[in-house]
Parts: sequence; C-alpha cells; structure tokens
Amino acid sequence: MSKRGKVIALAAPSGGGKSTMAKRLLNEFPDLTFSVSATTRPPRKGEIDGKDYHFLSKEEFQKKIDAGEFLEWEEFYKGTRYGTLQSDVEYQLNKGYFILLDIDVLGALNIKNIYRDEALTLFILPPSLQILEERLRNRDTETEETLKTRLERAQKEISYSDKFDKVVVNDDLETAYSEIKQAVKHFMNS
Ligand code: ADP
Ligand code: 5GP
Repeated sequence: MSKRGKVIALAAPSGGGKSTMAKRLLNEFPDLTFSVSATTRPPRKGEIDGKDYHFLSKEEFQKKIDAGEFLEWEEFYKGTRYGTLQSDVEYQLNKGYFILLDIDVLGALNIKNIYRDEALTLFILPPSLQILEERLRNRDTETEETLKTRLERAQKEISYSDKFDKVVVNDDLETAYSEIKQAVKHFMNS
C-alpha cells in the first residue's frame, strides 16, 4: 500500500478566494484530490451534485449526523449546514492521496485538532472587508440577505486567522496563489 496521505484545509471568509485557489491547486498537483462536502444549501448555477457538493435535504443531513458519518460539521448560517464525510477522507488518505478541503474557519480548526501533523491549515485573508464585499457582489451568487450574513460572519472569522499554520493575503491573485502553492508543495514533501 502507498504511504498515507495528508490533509490540506483552505479556509477564508466567504468570497475570500477558496474555490479559486482550490481549482488551481487541483489542476497543478495530480496527487491532490478534493473532498466533496455535504450541504443543505441549494446548488448554485453550474454546480454539480457529487462534484462540488453532495446536496442533501435537511433530513438526509440529520441522518448522517445521527449515524456519526461526519468528521466535522457546522451550521454556517441559519439552518444551512455543511459537513466533511469521514469515509471519503479516510478512504483517500489510506490510498495515499493529499486531500484538499474547502472549509469554513471553525471547520478547519476542528480538522487540525483531529489530524494534527497530518494537516496543513491555510487562511486566505481578503485585503479588506470592503474588497471582500465587492468580490462577493461581483460573484453574483448571493441574495442581499445571504450577503449580509456572510459579511457579518467574516469579521469574526478573520479574528481566528492567527490560529492557522499560514495566512496568505489575497490581494493580487498571482502573488497569493504562488504563496499558497509553495506552502502546499513544502507540506507535501515534508
Ligand atoms: P470563496 O470560495 O472563498 O467563497 P471565491 O473563490 O468564489 O471565494 O472568490 C470570490 C470571488 O472573488 C470570485 O468571483 C473570484 O473570481 C474573485 N476573486 C478571488 N480572488 C481574487 C483576487 N485576488 N482578485 C480579484 N478577484 C478575486
Ligand atoms: P458556500 O456556500 O460558499 O459554498 O460555502 C459556505 C462556507 O461553508 C464556506 O466557508 C465553505 O468553505 C464552508 N464549507 C464547505 N464545506 C464545508 C464542510 O464540509 N465543513 C465546514 N465546516 N464548512 C464547509
């Protein structure tokens, strides 16, 4: 059997740049695989069930909580839950893959508590809250209500950034990506 893999958790306030960075990392590193989370939020335009998320009803999600299937889960905003499936992660780790998690801040810290040295936690910091809002608005995926909740949450999330292995400011995309790529490469080879 190949050597056991490791976990890389990418966290940021919503709109911070996780998906953007995750896509590039997955294209760049063939040994890196994406952990598909479960969520109760509806799919966005273009999102595919089983690829971007496992889209579940509230009842289906609750059943998985009761059955102990989540490594961690969070209620990200009122009534909307997200969770990492233990079986997916362990299966890939045992096959020797590096696993990329796109995860909220508290979820990433929980993952670090579970996997310790087998986990790298990266915090992507937006240059300012104003720029974060602009990027979220330009992405055009939120209603005024979900935008407000996400921005309110962002401030609190940023206060946890010093608990991460590395913080990368996402001002210029290329500069930020190259910092993240270096950190991932170093962790994979350590
Ligand atoms: P998250 O996955 O953390 O919610 P996204 O990756 O979807 O964030 O990024 C939010 C929006 O900001 C997207 O429309 C993305 O294209 C844009 N974006 C990300 N990084 C930058 C950057 N450095 N400069 C300008 N726009 C960016
Ligand atoms: P979005 O709705 O923008 O896709 O995700 C909202 C937030 O939930 C993001 O911060 C995203 O990283 C986080 N998230 C996605 N999957 C998981 C997960 O499995 N667990 C936790 N704790 N957060 C997740």
